[in-house]
Amino acid sequence: MKKADRKVFKERLLALRARLRGDVSAMADSALRKETGGEMSSMPIHMAELGSDNFEQEFTLSIMETEEGTLEAIEASLERIEDGGYGKCAECEGVISKMRLNAIPYTPVCIRCAEALERG
Ligand SMILES: [Zn+2]
Repeated sequence: MKKADRKVFKERLLALRARLRGDVSAMADSALRKETGGEMSSMPIHMAELGSDNFEQEFTLSIMETEEGTLEAIEASLERIEDGGYGKCAECEGVISKMRLNAIPYTPVCIRCAEALERG
């Protein structure tokens, strides 16, 4: 994963964590807005994805509010961003697709492993 991409996901995770922790929610909201706004102009790839990004962000926030252990998952993801392991599946060590990370930035596993885990 490129450094610029890691930065984008890091900011998103920080915003999610702030919101989950109940820190001044306006702050998290403004961070989310900023993340989909001006700063993205220097990142053509993400600009192209912006159309679906807002929807996925809403999706993420709704998952986040209902899922247990999300805060821990966010913390773990932030650690993986620091040590360079972010975006790699914790189960099969495969690459987690950027589409999946956009939807659930704190997920530790790829879609295939997630489905396998769900099935038990
Ligand atoms: Zn996997």
